[in-house]
Amino acid sequence: MEERKGRRIIMFPLPFAGHINPMIKLAGIFHHRGFSVTILHTSFNSPDPSYYPQFTFRTIHHNNEGKEEDPLSPQDSGMDLVAFIRQLRQSYAEPFRESLAAEVGGGDTVYCLVSDVVWGRNTEVAAEEVGIHRMVLSTSGAASFCAYAAYPLLRDKGYIPIKDSRLDELVTELPPLKVKDLPVMETNEPEELFRVVNNMVKGAKSSSGVIWNTFEDFERPSLMDLNSKLKVPIFPIGPFHKHSDNFSPSTKSTEDNVTTDWLNKKNPQSVVYVSFGSLADIEEKEFLDIAWGLRNSEQPFLWVVRPGLVRGTEWLESLSCEFMDNISHKGKIVKWVNQLEVLAHPAVGAFWTHCGWNSTLESICEGVPMICTPCFTDQHVNARYIVDVWKVGMMLERSKMDRKEIEKVIRSVMIEEGDGIREMCLKWKERANVCLSKDGSSSTYLEKLVSHVLSFDS
Ligand code: UDP
Repeated sequence: MEERKGRRIIMFPLPFAGHINPMIKLAGIFHHRGFSVTILHTSFNSPDPSYYPQFTFRTIHHNNEGKEEDPLSPQDSGMDLVAFIRQLRQSYAEPFRESLAAEVGGGDTVYCLVSDVVWGRNTEVAAEEVGIHRMVLSTSGAASFCAYAAYPLLRDKGYIPIKDSRLDELVTELPPLKVKDLPVMETNEPEELFRVVNNMVKGAKSSSGVIWNTFEDFERPSLMDLNSKLKVPIFPIGPFHKHSDNFSPSTKSTEDNVTTDWLNKKNPQSVVYVSFGSLADIEEKEFLDIAWGLRNSEQPFLWVVRPGLVRGTEWLESLSCEFMDNISHKGKIVKWVNQLEVLAHPAVGAFWTHCGWNSTLESICEGVPMICTPCFTDQHVNARYIVDVWKVGMMLERSKMDRKEIEKVIRSVMIEEGDGIREMCLKWKERANVCLSKDGSSSTYLEKLVSHVLSFDS
């Protein structure tokens, strides 16, 4: 499609895979609609621009008390995620302001900034200063955002901080969530967690609109709730990666090809794909239980063990030679995969996931049943909805996860086809396709979004 020269959108993703990936997909959608896109990104964890020649990338260098180096990752710095996000927000606030001002001062008309909702109100003042509208992208689902929006109430009612004695209690204000499903995380800075969440919700309320990587049919009640609470236009235009006008980087790594070759040799729906995303980490004991649980289930498995996944280890050194010999014919362990391709492969029969929002949507779109082991924040909410509302997965809670339980749940999903899960998966896959079709809700919301953004020029 011909580009509408001079119409520019500036984007500012949070620098984690689960946030960068959907922002880049959204950039692709805007680009296809005739906008030029500039992606301002932090020097920490910056994406590789060579994969996306259609966008302009600008690196923002942080302002860390005069130190030159980039911030270390949460794992390497020993900070918990809440402290790390505080550091990111502080150290990139001023450099972001300067970069945004420089971009807006360039030749094109900048229609708006789209910033990740987690940056909160940090980006608000900067956008106001240069006189542009600010929209936000929520990379989590609508249901979990409802729970974040309810933080003050949850605190008043004593649900959070979570007490062990109340874990299985229903949160009557947010059914079907139980207390243990609330989107919290372990942190040494509980007050900072409240601040980040409240700031995020306020930043959404003061924005010119919220873009959601979800679809209406999937989260209708939560979207209606947010519509009335946030009081700004909302645009559920997802799943982003399935828009027909979207693109994937054409370059494939050798590892991706090796993984595809391996999957090609497996029977349809026979492989358990296991990945806990880009941030979660687990204890060594949990890692060994997962390893032996997978082995004992006797299903072929493809397991992403990210360096840093297992606390205190480099990679696979805690797996014995006996284990490695044992699995060589059934299992494959890799550091990273092209997850979209793996989930779309006919050999994959189930996805054992931490229930990050992208992973959840990606699995739904391919009709793959899930085994849910949430680790923190919105993952708990997503897991509850996957199991109790959408009925496309089984729970395997971390606190109850030993090798026997793992074996049992894997077999149940793979062999006994637990509770009609696979049929429900296919229904949701179809419903996602309908939303994306010409007159479907996501396409209609996208039209509204484009008109909304174009109206900023008047
Ligand atoms: N991902 C990937 N390869 C992997 C693991 C993850 O491509 O080996 C991608 C996955 O497709 C998803 C993102 O990384 O788009 C992870 O986002 P999610 O919201 O699921 O979890 P997070 O990493 O934010 O916890």
